Amino acid sequence: MRAMMLNKIGAPLEWTELADPEPGPDEIRVKVSACGVCRTDLHVVDGELPDPKVPIIPGHEIVGRIDAIGARVQGLNMGERVGIPWLGHTCGICPYCLGGQENLCDHPLFTGYTRNGGFATATVADARFAFPLGEIGSDVAQAPLLCAGLIGWRSLVIAGNGKKLGLYGFGAAAHILAQVAKWQGRSVYGFTRPGDLATQDFARKLGAVWAGGSDETPPEPLDAAIIFATVGELVPLALKAVRKGGRVVCAGIHMSDIPSFPYGLLWEERQVVSVANLTRQDGIDFLRLAPEMGIVTKTTTYPLNQANQALADLRAGQFEGAAVLVP
Ligand SMILES: [Zn+2]
Ligand SMILES: [Zn+2]
Repeated sequence: MRAMMLNKIGAPLEWTELADPEPGPDEIRVKVSACGVCRTDLHVVDGELPDPKVPIIPGHEIVGRIDAIGARVQGLNMGERVGIPWLGHTCGICPYCLGGQENLCDHPLFTGYTRNGGFATATVADARFAFPLGEIGSDVAQAPLLCAGLIGWRSLVIAGNGKKLGLYGFGAAAHILAQVAKWQGRSVYGFTRPGDLATQDFARKLGAVWAGGSDETPPEPLDAAIIFATVGELVPLALKAVRKGGRVVCAGIHMSDIPSFPYGLLWEERQVVSVANLTRQDGIDFLRLAPEMGIVTKTTTYPLNQANQALADLRAGQFEGAAVLVP
């Protein structure tokens, strides 16, 4: 197999040839056909997450077909199309796992961060954490659903049922979530970097009823806001934009420091919460509804060996929607 490997934090990924991995008894090997590029991959490469495991193959929005299967695996078949998400393994015995919050497991493994991911021609995954994808939709179109879509979905559930929803940072996750929210009958308000008129246009094309800069006040108070951008300054701005009792959800794994702000912004039962990882149930719920919701992902594809270019373009905001690597 071939992979784009991170050998040193902050260094470019390196094109590497490796022996094909053999799946353990509870694992599957998947021939990768597409792998999305996520903001979290940048955090891994940049060393912004704690305890990085290097060398590591990044990538946690994997679509592929099973080509080897462990002896104890049940319910999956050779040749079946599956998706492999960020949550790669949980311990099953900690209080969080036992309490229905496996996303907070004390001893998890994360795909592309603490176990090898999908910037490769093949990967091995814990079969219990792979999602059967069926045959609807192309591999490339499905890839962004596996993190941008899933984490977006979890964030939306935690944001509550309010009709007026603000989305801060209109990248891969928001471009999917805007379609989900519209399908649910909500009104989306899209916030971008001040002056980024092209992305504001993109937000409106995806059904946003209003789009503007993150420094702007929306035309009416929001019921909830989800922050996908990694900018802590957005937290007080979003609090300012939500109504009494409104909720601000921080959806990213990493964010710059949140500046201090007057208590008046939090007063009247406004809430700030974060979303971490996903549970398998989130994946099951979201992927079951995805075909019905008619989500159309906007993707820019790169050959696998151009992964560094894809990461650079993501960092620079060079494309709309999501980048996907194709081996
Ligand atoms: Zn656990
Ligand atoms: Zn991700």
